[in-house]
Amino acid sequence: MHANQSLPFDDSLKQEFSFFVDESDALFVQGTEGLEPATRDTESGPVQMLFAEIFADAKTANLFNSVLVQVRQGRSILSFPYRCDNTTHCLFFRVQIAATRDELVEFKNQMIASDPRPSGVTWNRKIIPAFTSDSSDQGAHTNNGAVVYETCSLCCRVSFEDTWYEYQELIDQEHWSLRPNSEEETRVMSCKSTLCATCESAVNQRLSDAIRYRMVA
Ligand SMILES: [Zn+2]
Repeated sequence: MHANQSLPFDDSLKQEFSFFVDESDALFVQGTEGLEPATRDTESGPVQMLFAEIFADAKTANLFNSVLVQVRQGRSILSFPYRCDNTTHCLFFRVQIAATRDELVEFKNQMIASDPRPSGVTWNRKIIPAFTSDSSDQGAHTNNGAVVYETCSLCCRVSFEDTWYEYQELIDQEHWSLRPNSEEETRVMSCKSTLCATCESAVNQRLSDAIRYRMVA
């Protein structure tokens, strides 16, 4: 989920972490003395971060906004798994989203498992932020001509020739080589965050279940 690089902290290896969203979509994190605003640095000093800013692409941001609205207005509790791999490990998480007593919405993330990749296999990624490039960001290449691979922000799979692959499958099937030119050089994959259809429909199913339950209850 937070495979993007815009969170102000690196929580990817914590067993459990939460962030909170208030009624005006401002983002809060757990500090040493309670909740504190999540900020990002700008030239004129730190500014309050908004919920939407933690996502690297509009598709994921829109889906999570639907989740936020449903939990806030429908008093639902939603939960689903996601992947957030780092360079050397496959990291499996589950997020539970629920309203707190003080009218915040908590996104509570728990690591379920952490599997190391086979020795020597690393996934060196550079995420191209969709929001900062051209809004019609459908191009398959960066400015310097490198191919940009779409990765799903929820399952971490990579789109290659219209099929979604596990990163390890790309290596095993020789669609991606770690060292194409020299022994020393480790290749960096330029990636662009999005959602695969499987993950998008899985979360949408949770959403429609929550809405249906609310209508019955
Ligand atoms: Zn996916």
